[in-house]
Amino acid sequence: MEFLKDLGLKKNMPGAATGTDWLTHKNHQKSAVCSPVDGKTFAYIQKATAEDYEQVIETAGKAFSLWRNIPAPQRGDIIRKIGSRLRDFKGPLGSLISYETGKPIQEGLGEVQEIIDICDFCVGQSRMLYGMTTVSERPHHRLYEQYHPLGIVGIITAFNFPLAVWGWNAMIGAICGNVSVWKPSSKTPITAIAAQKIIAEVLKENSLPEGIFSLLIGDRDVIGERLLGDRQVPLISFTGSVATGRRAATTVAARLGRSILELGGNNAIIITEHADLRLAIPAVVFGAVGTAGQRCTTTRRLIIHDSIFSKVKKQLIKAYESIQIGNPLSATNHMGPLIDQDAVQSYIRAVKAIQKQGGEILHGGKILEGTPYNASCCYVEPTLAVVENHFPIVQEETFAPILYLVRYTGEVSEAIALQNQVRQGLSSAIFTTDYRQAEMFLAATGSDCGIANVNIGTSGAEIGGAFGGEKDTGGGRESGSDAWKAYMRRQTVTGNFGSSLPLAQGIRFDIT
Ligand code: NAD
Repeated sequence: MEFLKDLGLKKNMPGAATGTDWLTHKNHQKSAVCSPVDGKTFAYIQKATAEDYEQVIETAGKAFSLWRNIPAPQRGDIIRKIGSRLRDFKGPLGSLISYETGKPIQEGLGEVQEIIDICDFCVGQSRMLYGMTTVSERPHHRLYEQYHPLGIVGIITAFNFPLAVWGWNAMIGAICGNVSVWKPSSKTPITAIAAQKIIAEVLKENSLPEGIFSLLIGDRDVIGERLLGDRQVPLISFTGSVATGRRAATTVAARLGRSILELGGNNAIIITEHADLRLAIPAVVFGAVGTAGQRCTTTRRLIIHDSIFSKVKKQLIKAYESIQIGNPLSATNHMGPLIDQDAVQSYIRAVKAIQKQGGEILHGGKILEGTPYNASCCYVEPTLAVVENHFPIVQEETFAPILYLVRYTGEVSEAIALQNQVRQGLSSAIFTTDYRQAEMFLAATGSDCGIANVNIGTSGAEIGGAFGGEKDTGGGRESGSDAWKAYMRRQTVTGNFGSSLPLAQGIRFDIT
């Protein structure tokens, strides 16, 4: 495969790096990396050890002492160069993401574009780490806030966005003056190695020390838990499932560390009687089937007004029949495989649960067999099911292409209530041409999610806005807007340029 060569990737690679240097020694255990596309083992990783962890953290700590003193716009300039280098490798990186995760090549390329966009964003943001100046209640006093870097940021990422989510965290963290240690998903480590190699070149060319961007690919008990519990790491950014995130948050909280949590979603689109179905149907299909239903923002529930339920159902079945499933590296396919056999099993469990709980499968529900699907055994049919929102299976996030159709009969407020009746709160959308319905959806009594869209689907957010969700989704915000503030420590400064010492709140404390 040319893209592996273009990225300088070998069959056997170390899984720990201090930014510019790779850690190699005899004690590493090997782990095979297999593609869900064709089931082939295409690389081996030497898993990071506890000693590697200590070395990486020590090097990162030293790098922080230097990096935080480089003016933020100069840090931004390094990120600009990283962005340029990522642009040069967009093609092979996109192909690697597609091959390693199984997502269609268009989405692989889109993911690389996302990190490039973040780098561009960071260049400007590096000149805008603004603090606020306010007025003091005391004469001849000045009161303002400033932001300082935090230190080492631990970044733990999910398999489904093996490059972009790291970019959101590492690049924003870096312009803020932090260094980062990345623990990617063991399911998609090769994209992480490719990114680390690209970054290392830029760091070397700019005579920067090791330790600014580090990588640790290893087991959860050796690397993951260590990172969560480490007091030398003041901030953990965790992206993953609600269950793992809850555990991660608890460990970090126990040491009073900070965490940014980007956890699972259970996203709905409301289709009202006033929806323009020419927009709604393609948005729903992309939202439900993109990345084979393995996006945190995947459309999982469709809440449809009774008066158009049959029409929407028919149009969706027709659209689902036209979905091309197969090798995601072929641009004509809309959907590739699930990430692994565990994911296939949870898809099958969900299909059985739908039927057991009283739902009706309208389309799909089966594993795809025969050539070329059985090469990896990870291909499944995208599935449509009529259900009720309260079914236990509907309340869960099954990370697979299963779209639930839920009917509502009354006002849009009923649809909004159904939409909010899940524990997760990531992304939401409404399709309507009625202004009042749209505003009701966006009001304080409307969608309770971190993302609320009108006449756009639930997935495919732009980097300029803050990204994240409420409730069990964890409350974190990353990427654009003022998300950078979470990567810094805020300091309130009061200065006295007078010749007396008045106390706040008018308190008198006179001593002679
Ligand atoms: P996961 O929870 O299985 O794993 C996430 C990460 O946590 C991986 O790197 C994994 O190795 C690591 N991990 C597992 N156990 C750990 C432990 N004990 N200590 C430290 N690290 C540990 O999730 P996944 O299957 O990789 O990803 C899918 C999930 O991620 C879905 O729920 C999806 O919605 C969510 N997700 C959320 C967002 C978001 O921005 N909200 C983005 C992408 C994915």
